[in-house]
Amino acid sequence: MLSCLSIIDRKLSVKYNIVPIEEKKDSILCIASRFNKGEVDNLEILLNKRVVIEEVSIEELNEKRIEVFKSYERIKILEKIELLNQYKLNIHLENSIENKSPIIEIMDLIIEHAIVEKCSDIHIEGIEREVVVKIRIDGSLKELCRLNKEYQQKIISRIKVLSNLDYTVKNIPQDSRFTYIYNSKNIDIRVATTPTVYGEKIVLRILDKNNVDYTKEGIGLYGEDVIKVNKLLSQPSGLILSVGPTGCGKSSTIYTFLKYLMNEEINIITIEDPVEYKIEGINQININEEAGLDFNEGLKAILRLDPDVLMLGEIRSLDTATTAIRASITGRKVFSTIHTSDSPSTIYRLLDMGVENYLISSGVIGIISQRLVRKLCDCKRKKKDYIELYDEVIEYYEPVGCEKCNDGYIGRVAIFEILILNQKLKEGINKNKSLDELREIAKEGGMVTLKEAMKKAVLEGKTSIDEVYKNIMTIGD
Ligand SMILES: [Zn+2]
Repeated sequence: MLSCLSIIDRKLSVKYNIVPIEEKKDSILCIASRFNKGEVDNLEILLNKRVVIEEVSIEELNEKRIEVFKSYERIKILEKIELLNQYKLNIHLENSIENKSPIIEIMDLIIEHAIVEKCSDIHIEGIEREVVVKIRIDGSLKELCRLNKEYQQKIISRIKVLSNLDYTVKNIPQDSRFTYIYNSKNIDIRVATTPTVYGEKIVLRILDKNNVDYTKEGIGLYGEDVIKVNKLLSQPSGLILSVGPTGCGKSSTIYTFLKYLMNEEINIITIEDPVEYKIEGINQININEEAGLDFNEGLKAILRLDPDVLMLGEIRSLDTATTAIRASITGRKVFSTIHTSDSPSTIYRLLDMGVENYLISSGVIGIISQRLVRKLCDCKRKKKDYIELYDEVIEYYEPVGCEKCNDGYIGRVAIFEILILNQKLKEGINKNKSLDELREIAKEGGMVTLKEAMKKAVLEGKTSIDEVYKNIMTIGD
């Protein structure tokens, strides 16, 4: 780690447009963009070393800054929180930034840490004698730090003030959102509070648009899967379902499809609970059950707006399923999600809901089941072993862990099981074939099961066997 980072901190780095990248005995190599010679002279005095500048673009500079400061700040933030935590609340730290109150500073440190680390959630929960702060990275929740119990109520009030919630209300769950400005970017943060025996628990969901990549490649579609998806998306009408358990990336997949289909000539409308990401050019409607706008009412209302493409957040009832399928039969592309384990069993879920066989076979054109797995970092290590799940010896990679990653992983990628409803399958549905029979027909028609798709990802070193085992209960055969 560069020791000069204690002098050229992020603030100075931003101010001077300079990022140090290498430290030598009597000089420091920095990259810079639009820098000022006088400021570089100042730096040389501060560092007591020669500063060698390599000019780069501002984009390159900003990107490198994140990388350089990431692990340094990770340690510094934790040190600082610990320091703040040890002091009594009424004492300000000497070098406290802009004289913020310690609570505001702690919250800012935690939120900024979560943004830098690309966390999806921050959990703040009171236990008997402390407050535990946990963060979720790539789907796994881990403890970030513990704070004084006396901070709990103050932290809760701080967040409630930020998100315009009534801080006198403590005994019922509340939710809201606020915008946090970090590095001059607006980051949406959703807030949910729940009363517990040890005081209110708060969950912050960080919706950082800069971290999402709604392209086919960005969500992990490649090879044969792209061909299958293109085939589905090029159909003039029909219902395409994205299925899987909570948090498997279903909405990202649909957002990606909508963005792909988006052009000025078509009218795209979504109805969601709630709208997660706002996409420019698409009309997104939040359902509001209290005001009488549930999925089914909302869906009927938007059909009157004559959309070419519509997205319904989730199919939860016979009513919504039937309305969605009817809309697809009458010439629209319709997208929705269902909470089921795999693609073939989704057909059975619809039948269980009471949807008629002929409606399914004439409306549904594709079902895409998916799981999110963590991506292995380049520090991975090759291994060869017998894997019970696949009943064979295979070569795979294990996570190792380095400065760049989290326990050997960086980010997540989706694994897909794409079912295209061909003629044979439609006949099978109309003839009331069993789930096993439908699954066989699907496989004959070219569907690669989740289990097989995961094996491919393991063999290619994209993910680990552990990640596959995490999903084993729901991926089927
Ligand atoms: Zn690594």
